[in-house]
Amino acid sequence: MSEHAYDLVVIGAGPGGYVAAIRASQLGLKVACVEKEAQLGGTCLRVGCIPSKALLQSSEKFHEAKEEFAQHGITAKVSLDLEKMMARKDKVVGGLTDGVAHLFRKNGVTHYSGHGRILNTTSVVVEKGRKKQVLETRDILIATGSKVARLPGVDFDGDRIGDSTTALSYPSVPKHLVIIGAGVIGLELGSVWSRLGARVTVLEYMDRILPGMDADVASAAKTVFKKQGLNFELGVRVTGAKVSKNRCLVEHDGGKPIACDRVLVAVGRVPNTDKLGLESVGVSLDPKGRIPVGPDFQTSAPHIYAIGDVIAGPMLAHKAEEEGIACVERIVTGHGHINYESIPNIVYTHPEIASVGRTEEELKQAGVEFKRGKFPFMANGRARAMGSTEGFVKILAHAETDRILGAHIIGPNAGDLIAEIAVAIEFSASAEDIARSCHAHPTLSEVVKEAAMNIEGRAIHM
Ligand code: FAD
Ligand code: NAD
Repeated sequence: MSEHAYDLVVIGAGPGGYVAAIRASQLGLKVACVEKEAQLGGTCLRVGCIPSKALLQSSEKFHEAKEEFAQHGITAKVSLDLEKMMARKDKVVGGLTDGVAHLFRKNGVTHYSGHGRILNTTSVVVEKGRKKQVLETRDILIATGSKVARLPGVDFDGDRIGDSTTALSYPSVPKHLVIIGAGVIGLELGSVWSRLGARVTVLEYMDRILPGMDADVASAAKTVFKKQGLNFELGVRVTGAKVSKNRCLVEHDGGKPIACDRVLVAVGRVPNTDKLGLESVGVSLDPKGRIPVGPDFQTSAPHIYAIGDVIAGPMLAHKAEEEGIACVERIVTGHGHINYESIPNIVYTHPEIASVGRTEEELKQAGVEFKRGKFPFMANGRARAMGSTEGFVKILAHAETDRILGAHIIGPNAGDLIAEIAVAIEFSASAEDIARSCHAHPTLSEVVKEAAMNIEGRAIHM
């Protein structure tokens, strides 16, 4: 085999691509991974999950110190050093992206820096400036992820009107930030800048926030976020945004244009298939610009596979990782596991919002008879000791079999609590299984147990 001949070439080193590359190497394949950005780790590590969570953590600490320490009998004089907060975020990102490079070396994955383009079913060219390197391979895995969706009439000016990447690095706290889209990014980054002192207005096209999530949870979330100071304008269609003399003007069909300092466009993401050479192997996209794949993640071209944000399904890092592992295990061993019913979805606001499985709306639409068990954090000793009592856990189980079909949480540490229910769904557990499992006291996990008990109306503490 020549130096540049591989069993598998992965295009894209995000959570889908880099995890797949490492797993393939563990399974004995000779693997290369091509990435066009200088840092490995993809959207998630560079400009997504990790920097946003670093800023959510820092801004939450700032907010707590300013607004909540006093109730604990702690007096502190608090001020904001935004530059230092941003430097900490960059350090967290740098540590993790360097960590992926280390994992590649440790696992014998060869990293090629440059833009990957498919030439034919057995070769990929890596282009960097004028340099070109052709890699020969048996299989190709496309893991090129996604990029921000643009809105007609709203042109990014590289500063005041931009996307989440810009909003992760504002040089100062905007006086008034307008966010277009009340989805996950809108709420997470809206929370960050609101906690740091910005007035935040969120414009949403639908008549509710977080479309797609359980309506009960989304409605509770709206009440909490409004109390925290986020302003929602629902049922509003943005028609344009422009910058004039360092101010932005956002035009919409709901009334007068809104003047503000910065605009964050967060109306979803679209698959990244730019200059990928798909036409050379006859792969065409679906109407949403995604690469169609079969159950083994194989595209319409032989030996070419695709996973993560570039294919259908929720755009989540852990979904991309699971698909990456399942895909290469199927290539090498013929089998690999992924269960789309047990993929959790978390919004890292305070309180957190987490869900797994079906929503009530989905079950009703599908005509599935179900039971509901709900329990509030207000009635939990640990939540009261923490001073974090907003929200509830809701578990949905099949009316006859009691099998858990979904769970929806708004409350402290919801993102960690949902893991128990995701595992329960994976094991086809019943609500009774959770209700009869001992949960330590005092912990927030007791709310999950009590919600499961409440499916039969036998919660103890309410
Ligand atoms: P990506 O992470 O997008 O990686 C694709 C990689 O391919 C990129 O590095 C890109 O540079 C590279 N690439 C593209 N084309 C080429 C080419 N032709 N040649 C070479 N390289 C190429 N998800 C969560 O689960 N939890 C979160 O908390 C979360 N927070 C987020 C916050 C923000 C602000 C954003 C924007 C997203 C967030 N996401 C979160 C979504 C998550 O980042 C994505 O679902 C995930 O990164 C998808 O992984 P992927 O491997 O499919 O693609
Ligand atoms: P999203 O799909 O979560 O929300 C987009 C919102 O914009 C929706 O509420 C939609 O109705 C609204 N919208 C669409 N067009 C509009 C218009 N013209 N005017 C006003 N509102 C409009 O998308 P996002 O928040 O941009 O996030 C992108 C992706 O990244 C999501 O798929 C999400 O899964 C992923 N992400 C995940 C996390 C996490 O897991 N914590 C965090 C951030 C991003």
